[in-house]
Amino acid sequence: MTTLLISDLHLHTGQPDITRGFLDYLERDARHADTLYLLGDIFEAWIGDDYLGDLERQVIEALRRLSDAGTQLYFMHGNRDFLVGEDFAAAAGATLLDDPCLATLGRQTVLLMHGDSLCTGDEEYMKFRAMARDPEWQAQILALPIEQRLELAKSLRMQSSDANTQKADAIMDVTPAEVEAIMREHGVSTLIHGHTHRPAVHEFTLDGQPAQRIVLGDWRPGRGWEVRVEGDAPPRLREFAFQVRA
Ligand code: MN
Repeated sequence: MTTLLISDLHLHTGQPDITRGFLDYLERDARHADTLYLLGDIFEAWIGDDYLGDLERQVIEALRRLSDAGTQLYFMHGNRDFLVGEDFAAAAGATLLDDPCLATLGRQTVLLMHGDSLCTGDEEYMKFRAMARDPEWQAQILALPIEQRLELAKSLRMQSSDANTQKADAIMDVTPAEVEAIMREHGVSTLIHGHTHRPAVHEFTLDGQPAQRIVLGDWRPGRGWEVRVEGDAPPRLREFAFQVRA
């Protein structure tokens, strides 16, 4: 049994190298996996399942080929692609996951999250998150004409990058007490998440027991990150170079 977990590809038309690397990853690495978890911010923006550009279409088709070939696909929302919906999931052959979500990887039950909800120090973002995850707000946005949604996505992205350059480093990372609380609540000793773009394996003690938090990295041109679980072996965080097609 092989399980792969990835996040934070932030696919968009401005980074065709990453899109190509991802499509190759789906065709090669993921083809040999039993399960692939997409843990949020796969897309830099998503304005609704009814708007598909070339990139979105290509990705959906590649995911479909993978799920048709027998790999189980799970998709968790990030803070960028929170409007991905059931139509996308049905087209890709994926199952949408709640955040957080328990998963059995090998012999272990682990907790999976995107990670944004752990960054409680960023009060401004937490307010936005509460709004953006509200089904009524989402329905209102999805009812807007596509042009207006594109504009909105653009302005949200600009606002967030302006705000983030002004925020202290610690605010942009997870709140340790929040990590402990959610792990305790779900009775796990391993948490896997992305979002912060600070790939690392953090070992610590939780209520006297060894615990770990594995943080996935963001994909860059030519380089990706995954967590790989082979059989009963513990999860392994790995950076790799793309095999770019000639
Ligand atoms: Mn994120």
